Amino acid sequence: MQILASKFIYSKDKGNLKEVLLPFKDLPIQLAFFQRRDFSEAEHDLIKEICKSLNIEIPTVHAPIIDVFDPDFLKVIESIKKIYQIKIISIHPQRGEIESALAKLREYSSIIESLNLILAYENFGSSVAKRKWINSPYQMYLKFDLPFLKITFDTSHLDSPSDCIEEFDRVSDKVETIHLSDRTLKRQHLPLGEGLLPYKEFLNHLKEKEFGGFLVLEYLDEFQDRLIEDLKRVSSFLL
Ligand SMILES: [Zn+2]
Repeated sequence: MQILASKFIYSKDKGNLKEVLLPFKDLPIQLAFFQRRDFSEAEHDLIKEICKSLNIEIPTVHAPIIDVFDPDFLKVIESIKKIYQIKIISIHPQRGEIESALAKLREYSSIIESLNLILAYENFGSSVAKRKWINSPYQMYLKFDLPFLKITFDTSHLDSPSDCIEEFDRVSDKVETIHLSDRTLKRQHLPLGEGLLPYKEFLNHLKEKEFGGFLVLEYLDEFQDRLIEDLKRVSSFLL
């Protein structure tokens, strides 16, 4: 298991990249983009250069909002691959119909496989089911029958975070990445211990099961200091 911090880079960070990345010195990150613009306007060479100089490893990337129905889908995932040389991309399912999404992915399968990419789709709660072609972890588990289709298991997006261990165990052999954060009924992506997630039990469970993927701490930006502290605590607990 590799333990990472999630770090979003926004268009507004232009000209300020060194400053926004400095707190992550010596830590591995999942580099994340939110809007398409955040990715297309990003100064990727500079991001890579700064990360290198700060000893920030980028072993996985979180794609901006893009999915199979978008005409630029392949172009975007291919450029993520080319720029960052990673294998696993976390990606959000968007609006659409499940069978046509899977048909598109089948159509693209030889290209995605030749890029040596894994698409780890992120689960979402049932409240947004109408806005996603797929959302629950177990539905992904049942439907993902292509070798490059895997899961980003997000604990804040579970309907019932108290059942995280059972939910995880139902799908664990297709989970490449975990997005770990706490949630209350109202707010998601809170620091561990601030909500309903039995995170100590969950971390113990991951340790016992020898989870081999990425464990990414993903908090709201306002909790960045807590995220870095917790990353160190979680790492010393698990490793
Ligand atoms: Zn997430």
